[in-house]
Amino acid sequence: MNLSSATTAFQYLTALFGAFLAALWLSLIFWTYRDIRSRTQDALVQILAALTTGVMGPFGLVIYLILRPSQTIDQAYQHTLEEEALLTEIEEQPICPGCGNRTRADWQLCPNCHTHLRKGCENCGRLLELSWQICPYCGTPVAGVRAEVGLEPGAS
Ligand SMILES: [Zn+2]
Ligand SMILES: [Zn+2]
Repeated sequence: MNLSSATTAFQYLTALFGAFLAALWLSLIFWTYRDIRSRTQDALVQILAALTTGVMGPFGLVIYLILRPSQTIDQAYQHTLEEEALLTEIEEQPICPGCGNRTRADWQLCPNCHTHLRKGCENCGRLLELSWQICPYCGTPVAGVRAEVGLEPGAS
């Protein structure tokens, strides 16, 4: 093996290594750009992130990984949806008119102040709002109302 062929081999290896580095560099920029696009819609931030990796390569990537938004747009959206669902759930919880504590839709009495919240249907036993005068499940008139209706003709 003479000197010139060794030099050629070295040059060849260097070129190969250089090409590999360039490809790696480009794919880092590509990866960063794709990643930042899933995390923000701000074009300036997207360009800055790609530039950071473009200029500093692997080091830029490390900086990007530290600084990037922790949630993707999809994750942030899911998070908002979950929070909204939780809020409506809390808002839909009825409040006791007696003491103001939260009650549940299937309670007849407030466990705190014993205020009547609902009444049971005489016929089917399902829970009715106090203002209802007829059971919406089986059609049975509510007892108190029926008694009033029955009293009126007798009184007159
Ligand atoms: Zn109460
Ligand atoms: Zn009923």
